[in-house]
Amino acid sequence: METGPLGIDDLPVREELRGKSAYGAPQLDVPVQLNTNENPYPLPEALVARIAERVTEAARGLNRYPDRDAVELRTELARYLTRTAGHRVATENIWAANGSNEVLQQLLQTFGGPGRTAIGFEPSYSMHALISRGTGTGWISGPRNDDFTIDTAAAVRAIAENRPEVVFITSPNNPTGTAVAAETVIELYEAAQAAGPSMVVVDEAYVEFSHRPSLLPLLAGRPHLVISRTMSKAFGAAGLRLGYLAACPAVVDAVQLVRLPYHLSAVTQATALAALEHTDTLLGYVEQLKTERDRLVAELRAIGYEVTDSDANFVQFGRFPDAHAAWQYILDRGVLVRDNGVPGRLRVTAGTPAENDAFLDAVRELKKEQS
Ligand code: PMP
Repeated sequence: METGPLGIDDLPVREELRGKSAYGAPQLDVPVQLNTNENPYPLPEALVARIAERVTEAARGLNRYPDRDAVELRTELARYLTRTAGHRVATENIWAANGSNEVLQQLLQTFGGPGRTAIGFEPSYSMHALISRGTGTGWISGPRNDDFTIDTAAAVRAIAENRPEVVFITSPNNPTGTAVAAETVIELYEAAQAAGPSMVVVDEAYVEFSHRPSLLPLLAGRPHLVISRTMSKAFGAAGLRLGYLAACPAVVDAVQLVRLPYHLSAVTQATALAALEHTDTLLGYVEQLKTERDRLVAELRAIGYEVTDSDANFVQFGRFPDAHAAWQYILDRGVLVRDNGVPGRLRVTAGTPAENDAFLDAVRELKKEQS
């Protein structure tokens, strides 16, 4: 009998995974990569040296399991949040994992799961839906306004009707760049408590780039609110894989019911601690990126594109009769941006000034050709 190579669907995979493909942006080898919202600045040499020192120290103890509760790291993350977000949090308010994706997965394993649902307001970060699926949590796609802000009244209605156990709010939102007002979060939180009570997870992966302050102070008096953060963007450390959450201590205790023992390696903890020692330098790069992001918005508008206001390190722009063809045109000029599947729109990550110039040259040409 003739047999081809074995495919996923030839295996006894779970029903909900059949016919699906893995998440991930194309990793193409082009000169200008502005597609995954990474920080374009490599870590400063002084920090690289400090990481080497701390990792060397950690290596001497690698015969032992790491600190399972990552207490030193959580203490430093609490100090960072307290200092930058105007709200005091302590070690017991913080939990850390391998990227905020793992934090979100642990939250869904804890509060979602079979027979439960989560809601997000789309277009938004597609991993919220995918991690829901991976944890057996039903997914509900809530609406947005035409300008990509959250339609508060419709969102409150969707929460009341569906009574989801987990509500995702992404601020600033990916891929649109839209920040969410504190009043909106409060209204959605109250709707979720009336319907549930359910957990409200605010994904603040990009908040350091925002014109608005963090929503962290909303934690006061809201035990079902969770703020999720990452060192992948503002700290320029996407390769480190370090995400964390802030919430009331009971939430931190609850996620420990599902975390794998020793999930956060001693090397990861040492590296993250070194990076936190250099917070001020790294936040200096964030300021440069904010300026570049604002320049991208202004120049794209000047060229004649429709641009969504951005509070993140990326910008959504359009409109294109065929977004994928526009993506390919820009790629042919050596610049990789992201087609997130939002009709007529593409997303560009703010890079270095030279990278952004290369991108702007490409889209200027494209505009000329399309008009
Ligand atoms: N949340 C949002 C909104 C994101 O865009 C991303 C990364 N693309 C993440 C979370 C996950 O980031 P990480 O796992 O690197 O912390």
